[in-house]
Amino acid sequence: MGLFKPAWMSENYNRAERAIDKLNDQEKLIFAAENAPNRHIRRMAIEKITDKAVLKRIAETHKDSSTRRDATGRVTDQSVLTRIATTDVSDTVRYAAMENLRNVKALRGIALNDPDATNRRVAIKRLESLGENVESLKRENELRKRKEEREERERKQASCTHHRWVFAGDGGGNAHSYTCELCGKTETRG
Ligand SMILES: [Zn+2]
Repeated sequence: MGLFKPAWMSENYNRAERAIDKLNDQEKLIFAAENAPNRHIRRMAIEKITDKAVLKRIAETHKDSSTRRDATGRVTDQSVLTRIATTDVSDTVRYAAMENLRNVKALRGIALNDPDATNRRVAIKRLESLGENVESLKRENELRKRKEEREERERKQASCTHHRWVFAGDGGGNAHSYTCELCGKTETRG
C-alpha cells in the first residue's frame, strides 16, 4: 500500500466518501470494497466495481454480512444466487439473493425444500412476484408448518418430566380437564 494510508481508509467519513467518489481505478476500488473499515464506504466501492467475478467473490466470502448483501445485490449469475440463497448464514443475505433470483426452478426448490421456514416463505413471495402460480406451494407450506409445530409441541411434551397441572375446565359428565402449564399437554380425568 505504500507509506500513506489511502483517503478511503480515513476515519473521517466525509473524507473517505469523497475519496471513493473520485476513485475510478478498478484495482483500487476492489481493494477498498474488501478492506475499507467502514461498511458504507465498502458499499460505495462495490457499486463502482465492474468485474462480475469479483462481485461474486465478495458476495460469497466477505466476512461482513452487510457487505455480502451489498455485493449480492449486484450479482446476476443465477447459480451463484441460488447457492447464496440456500447457504449464506445470514438471512438478510439470503433474501437479497432471492430478490435477484429469476430462476423459477431454483426458487421452487427453495420454496419446497429449504429447512428454514422464512426462506421458504420468501421464495414463494418471489415466485408470486414473477407471476408464478403458487397456490399449491402455499398449501404445502402451510401443511408443513402445522406438522412442524405439532412435532415441536410433541417434543416439548415428551421432554416435560414434571407436568404442572392446572384445572382447565369441565370435560363433560364428571370429567375435568387439566393442562400442563409448562408444556401444554392436556388430560381429561374422570
Ligand atoms: Zn408438562
